[in-house]
Amino acid sequence: MSDMRVRFAPSPTGYLHIGGARTALFNYLLARQNKGTFILRIEDTDVERSTQESVDAILAAMEWLGLEYDEGPYYQSERFDLYREKIQFLLDSGKAYKCYCTEEELTQKREVALQQGAKPQYDGTCRKLEQERPGQPYVVRFKTNPAGNTAFNDLIKGNISFDNCELDDMIIQRTDGTPTYNFVVVVDDAEMGLTLIVRGDDHVNNTPRQIQIYAALGYAVPQFAHVPMILGDDKKRLSKRHGATSVMTYRDMGYLPEAMVNYLVRLGWSYGDEEIFSMPELIEKFSIKSVGRSAGVFNPDKLLWLNEHYIKTGDPQRLGALLQDYLHSDGVDTNADLDAAEVVKTLQDRSKTMVEMAQKGAFYYLDELNYDQAAVEKFITAEQTEIFSAVLEQFKTATFDAEGIETAFKQVLEQTGLKFGKVGQPIRVALSGGTSAPGIYEVALVLGRERCIKRLQRAIEMCRGSK
Ligand code: GLU
Repeated sequence: MSDMRVRFAPSPTGYLHIGGARTALFNYLLARQNKGTFILRIEDTDVERSTQESVDAILAAMEWLGLEYDEGPYYQSERFDLYREKIQFLLDSGKAYKCYCTEEELTQKREVALQQGAKPQYDGTCRKLEQERPGQPYVVRFKTNPAGNTAFNDLIKGNISFDNCELDDMIIQRTDGTPTYNFVVVVDDAEMGLTLIVRGDDHVNNTPRQIQIYAALGYAVPQFAHVPMILGDDKKRLSKRHGATSVMTYRDMGYLPEAMVNYLVRLGWSYGDEEIFSMPELIEKFSIKSVGRSAGVFNPDKLLWLNEHYIKTGDPQRLGALLQDYLHSDGVDTNADLDAAEVVKTLQDRSKTMVEMAQKGAFYYLDELNYDQAAVEKFITAEQTEIFSAVLEQFKTATFDAEGIETAFKQVLEQTGLKFGKVGQPIRVALSGGTSAPGIYEVALVLGRERCIKRLQRAIEMCRGSK
């Protein structure tokens, strides 16, 4: 183990967003690459907006993506004693103070400042109070050092410096006694021994405030890397308007986690012209210094392209198990005596998502096929009875392997004097219900003799019913 300690610190106020997942992934990769420690911390101090449902959704998404953490999940809501102790320390040492200004007073101050063209900052009224006011509600404010500047060297953005006069005395404890984000994040990052903070660049402006709190509490300041945000194709911040933003929605839409991981990492990080990276390759090659400074643009087509790649090259056994889950979601019973891996092999080259594979592969499992009416009218007619009967007869005795099935078809062509083109489509419709199934030899082989025979018999009955 190295001493690198990184974390992912989501607020459980919704699902795991694409942007959050990318932050988690970057942290995970750094921890694994450096044999460090990856910590998961749930930032649930905002009791009103945090839900258990959201915690569960975040944990499920992390698991799906394969982002295993070494410590946690820690819950900030279980650490209030620690925060209280630290706030008391700041109060006792004169680095924080109680502020009794009411909401109305603050609004008024803000309006006056705005009228004067000044920045609406807290004016420090209660900084100078000599006496406490027992019984009166208060917030605790951090006494920001107003002189000079606060600078840090961001691993992605380079040197960043803020004038301290830009930072007012921020609230670290609300009237209800709960501590605020900018305070608890410092206490936790320090107490948990984090060495590097990788997070979204929406937090850049918080960093100088946090650095001042580190100093006030006597903590060492970690390194920071602020990852540029993700935009939609219209260059606006990624939102639902651009498509699904929840990671798990992509699973529901039939995406594989390795495609998602590969896609997420490329949203901001590049390695020459390479596009395809397995997790072990990422652990080897990822570098925070190669994360670009400009925002990544979310491109659903590229994600789909990666998904197609991973489906095509995926292990049929594993995809077979997944396929059955997707079939179940579609209400298809997969108890049939079929080898799911073999089913997958016939569909891997023709499915961009697992949902598409489930749609295309349902016919293998269905007892009652969903016949495509146009195909039936064309290919299951009295005229084709002879074809079905001939194939049926051959199938009864054929050796049911790839070669045996091919031989059976050859015999049928010989017997009937028809070309394969005439025989193939009717058989495809009889066996699959439509005209777009994989090659019929493969389909017949996967279905097995009994199922083929049943479906051919059914086709013959349907021919009798047709004109
Ligand atoms: N909980 C914060 C958020 O969800 C992250 C804080 C951080 O990474 O410092 O935005």
